[in-house]
Amino acid sequence: MSLPPIIDITTDGHVHTHLCNHAVGEMEEYVEHAVAQGLRGITFLEHLEAEIRYQPRSWLEKEEFDIYFREGERLKHRFGSVIKIRLGVEAGYNPAASNLLREKLSHYPWDRIGISCHFHPQGEVHRNLLSRRRESLDQLAAIGVDFVVTQYFDALLEAVDFIDCDVLCHLDAVLRHYPGIRFNTEHQQQIAALLDAMQAKGVALEINTSGFDYRGSPFPTPWIIAAAMERGIPLSAGSDAHRPEDVGRYFDRLPDYLVQVAAQS
Ligand SMILES: [Zn+2]
Ligand SMILES: [Zn+2]
Repeated sequence: MSLPPIIDITTDGHVHTHLCNHAVGEMEEYVEHAVAQGLRGITFLEHLEAEIRYQPRSWLEKEEFDIYFREGERLKHRFGSVIKIRLGVEAGYNPAASNLLREKLSHYPWDRIGISCHFHPQGEVHRNLLSRRRESLDQLAAIGVDFVVTQYFDALLEAVDFIDCDVLCHLDAVLRHYPGIRFNTEHQQQIAALLDAMQAKGVALEINTSGFDYRGSPFPTPWIIAAAMERGIPLSAGSDAHRPEDVGRYFDRLPDYLVQVAAQS
């Protein structure tokens, strides 16, 4: 009996397009790069948000999603014999607009729903948890780093419970640019509870290879990946490409990396 592969690296489960306002490249260029990489599948996972007050907009509204599905369907026909294209969504969870998010999700026939959380509310606006800008990091630090991280994991736990989803994206990306960021005991307990919820609902954990560029290893951090594997949570490879040339980035490193993570836990 042969063991199933530790992760499928023939499909990139997370790429963006210029439609989100902070990525570049046409959908077709992402598909072409995936084909050139020898991938057998590519999943667009475009940003959707609900009642986030943040400028400039970094997600798609109805008008852009209409374009996304039209173009995506055209590409499915054009490239159908070469590569499997899926049209998904990275649903940003905002606990203050959970019903609206679910309602927005019901408008489209997603091939895959990913969950993430990019924003923290402060007064009338939101702060970007993944920003590397000094001003943004200072504003979040003023709110309280531990508090912000606690709220972030609470939001993800609620999201996995409330949204019918397939995968949790870049689980530990919160405040990833904050110098010396670390999770306290409470955060670690929240992560364990989150993984338990994912296991119970059959939600996959994304192994996000953009981390290789940020810190030399994928998101999330090894102990979280190991804890997911112990629970039998499926792992899903995603490049989080915001430009076509990043499709499938570092996927060749993943099998060995994950074997090492499992061995060290
Ligand atoms: Zn993005
Ligand atoms: Zn994201």
